[in-house]
Amino acid sequence: MKFNTKVIHGKQEHDPSTGAVMPPIYQTSTYAQISPGKHKGYEYSRSANPTRTALENSFASIENGEFGLAFGSGLAAIDCVVKLLKSGDEVISTSDLYGGTYRIFTQIFAQYGIKFHFIGMENAENIENYVNENTKMVWVETPTNPMLNIIDIKKSVEISKRHNLLLVVDNTFATPYLQNPLDLGADVVMHSATKYLGGHSDVVMGALITNDKEIADRLYFIQKSSGAVCGPMDSFLVLRGIKTLHVRMQRHCENGKAIAEYLAAHPKVENVYWPGFKTHPNHEIAKEQMRDFGGMISFTTVGNKMEDAIKIVENLKIFTLAESLGGVESLIGHPASMSHASIPKEERERIGVVDSLIRLSIGIEDKEDLIQDFEQALALL
Ligand SMILES: *Cc1c(COP(=O)(O)O)cnc(C)c1O
Repeated sequence: MKFNTKVIHGKQEHDPSTGAVMPPIYQTSTYAQISPGKHKGYEYSRSANPTRTALENSFASIENGEFGLAFGSGLAAIDCVVKLLKSGDEVISTSDLYGGTYRIFTQIFAQYGIKFHFIGMENAENIENYVNENTKMVWVETPTNPMLNIIDIKKSVEISKRHNLLLVVDNTFATPYLQNPLDLGADVVMHSATKYLGGHSDVVMGALITNDKEIADRLYFIQKSSGAVCGPMDSFLVLRGIKTLHVRMQRHCENGKAIAEYLAAHPKVENVYWPGFKTHPNHEIAKEQMRDFGGMISFTTVGNKMEDAIKIVENLKIFTLAESLGGVESLIGHPASMSHASIPKEERERIGVVDSLIRLSIGIEDKEDLIQDFEQALALL
């Protein structure tokens, strides 16, 4: 089965009791048992719920994985993966990563004795420099948020396998439409399904996918034990979102390219970060491991002034100033004061999140309208 068919039919079956084409929203916490322990596969909705099962199967299918798990948020999924570790273990993570991931690593898990190294991975060989006998996990986010750096997944896999480390890839920005880390040898793929998989800015959810039965069993056990699951209504919404992932992504990529090129040619724009440019430092790797370059773009303005960035985000009419990304509507964010405010200023600037940096999630509107919107906002500088 190819991708466009998988998003609609992958590991799905019609409801066995009624033939309903879409899985019903099984809004129930518990299930009747015929005799103690004798039931139809469901006993309590923290452990499993049929609507969630349908979604978890879809997650697995679109990422070319065997096992899928759904959570109440992307961070709940991250929480589950890191709980595979124990006190004294070390994680090597990319330094340019989602602010909330940085926060849970440094402010929650660090206090349980797990050590995190935040390093530049644009040259994946650098991972090797931080491996020691306590290293257990490598955390890769590519493209990175918000600098759109590209990390070589194949090379990260090679290093991880050599040292017997678990390689986790946060595939939120790329989605399985653009990139399939499991095919390249990653152990676990993580998603904030809140973003492109849901795709309509109406639900918060997370996902994990793996091909390894032993890892899957441990993740299921943590999911059930910690309990950060998503409800049946949210499962239904994301399942519906996934069915149009391929057509949405196609347009996100097409619009993304148009806006990136427009911004790069604008005299008031300084740098544009988008992996589709030949000048992007890891453009060749992006071309190799991704099918297209996505709809996420960051840029800075000439003079790098905070007030210019604020003026732009306040005056755009179609772009909405908001956290999040990956929905049908175009969103704009100012990482230094929004998504990355939890990262100390010094650390933030070291990775490129300067005061004038603006991050765009390009939606699926008409690209002419999006460009026109920028034309009027940039004219105000
Ligand atoms: C949003 C996001 C997360 C966190 O997911 P939530 O659903 O907000 O909990 C993690 N990683 C990336 C790359 C994200 O964009």
